[in-house]
Amino acid sequence: MLQTTVHAAARSRAHGPTAELWHAVELHRPPAEIDGACELTICGSLARVVTDVVWPLAARDVCPVCADLTR
Ligand SMILES: [Zn+2]
Repeated sequence: MLQTTVHAAARSRAHGPTAELWHAVELHRPPAEIDGACELTICGSLARVVTDVVWPLAARDVCPVCADLTR
């Protein structure tokens, strides 16, 4: 069986000079279980998972580190 990593989109809070950004979170649990939960993103920050948004998303405010690591 081929194992693929599924990513969910997560929204971080504005933090000091850093604006709100979309991050990617590796899904290890069913999306229904982590909807709205704060999870560690791929780039190492905390963001709230939004399961009705699909990663990668075509937004302008996407975290460049997460985008790079999931490419
Ligand atoms: Zn990120």
